[in-house]
Amino acid sequence: MRLDILTLFPEMCEAVLSESIIGRARERGLVEMHCHQIRDFSKDKHKRVDDTPYGGGKGMIMQVQPIYDCFESVCGEIGERPYLIYMSPAGRTLTQQRVKELSEMKNIAILCGHYEGVDERVIEEIVDEEISIGDYVLTGGELGAMVIADAVSRMLPGVLSDEICFTEESHFDGLLEYPQYTRPFSWHGKDVPEVLLTGHHANIEKFKREKSLERTFFRRPDILKAEALSETDRKFLDTLLKKQEE
Ligand code: SAM
Repeated sequence: MRLDILTLFPEMCEAVLSESIIGRARERGLVEMHCHQIRDFSKDKHKRVDDTPYGGGKGMIMQVQPIYDCFESVCGEIGERPYLIYMSPAGRTLTQQRVKELSEMKNIAILCGHYEGVDERVIEEIVDEEISIGDYVLTGGELGAMVIADAVSRMLPGVLSDEICFTEESHFDGLLEYPQYTRPFSWHGKDVPEVLLTGHHANIEKFKREKSLERTFFRRPDILKAEALSETDRKFLDTLLKKQEE
């Protein structure tokens, strides 16, 4: 997969995307990432990229021309048009399901807004989808773009050591992950649940599934999907419900 980021702060993005698992995945050629400076495409003699909003109002708005030309340049580099995402608090909130779908695309580009955002006409003209990373407002789209870059690239083949790293994680199958433990066995008077030391595979799997269901039921009942639950899961949830009513 190739990911292009259109931003006023390419160094900030590069710094994040050169580290750790993503940095190594790039070095190994598992994912290609490029950060583009929108300002380089400004035709203004002072390289301005923003102006005041029509109709008045606070702040500055990013202008259409540098963004459009930057995107055209990316299209030219790739040789085809990438799927363009605009980071926006007004977009659809990112989910693990959407991350999975995006990870199956060949070319994605992400436009990061700044100041009060971008001129609506460039969104209408070139953007395929607006994505929000949550119901709060950031100063720019860069952190959101990093979130997408991170979440998407860890789903690509070979980036994580084993596919189980993400198939067993929170949100992959509509459940939160079960609690996990490592050495020491005892810490501050708290012991690791005994079942995890038994080596009894079936009992350990049962424990993990029940803890996952319990955690999701109490913390995020909104993501529990009835159709994804087995008969055994339902019985377990029924007992939880009864306990709660007592
Ligand atoms: N005036 C805009 C509004 O009220 O919707 C907010 C602009 S915000 C200060 C500047 C930029 O940060 C946006 O153009 C967008 O790219 C990015 N941004 C802010 N909050 C975001 C969020 N929750 N998710 C994704 N991007 C966000």
